[in-house]
Amino acid sequence: MSQAPINQSLPRRGDPRKYAQQGVELVGFLALESLPRLQGAVTGDSASFDVLLSFRIDEDGKKVLEGTVNGEVNMICQRCLDTVLVPLSCNLRLGIVWSEDQARALPRDLDPWIVGEGAADFYEIVEEELLLSLPAVAYHDYACVPSEHFSSGAAEVEASSKPKQNPFQVLEQLKGTPKK
Ligand SMILES: [Zn+2]
Repeated sequence: MSQAPINQSLPRRGDPRKYAQQGVELVGFLALESLPRLQGAVTGDSASFDVLLSFRIDEDGKKVLEGTVNGEVNMICQRCLDTVLVPLSCNLRLGIVWSEDQARALPRDLDPWIVGEGAADFYEIVEEELLLSLPAVAYHDYACVPSEHFSSGAAEVEASSKPKQNPFQVLEQLKGTPKK
């Protein structure tokens, strides 16, 4: 993928099977406001993602969609409750199939993308993948709150390992900072 700035928005719809046969590549940006579910999971609304989607027939004759999505979103730091810019990117590698049965028959390294006849919505599948890549909680990568505020090593908890527990709720109440 070239480093030239992407200045057109990603096409929203197209026929993935036809594209795979033709080896179509789509490049474009995707604004957060086009992704309502992701927008609901982050804060702020100005993010944008660079997207490359590559449709092709793989070595086994399967129709696949490969792609990369890169961007940044604002989330609330669960330590200081201010916003933190979180890089958000994912690599797609999906087998284009008609049905659950076909999905089950895919090799393990291919996630299924079940699509009907004709055009499919590319924004939906990109949003799906971004939601899967979104960290459950976010923290600044520096000590945004002095460590003496903590009585244990809770601040070291990895973002990915404890998605639901928020050890800083007490702090949130103490600070009373309004969320943005
Ligand atoms: Zn913070």
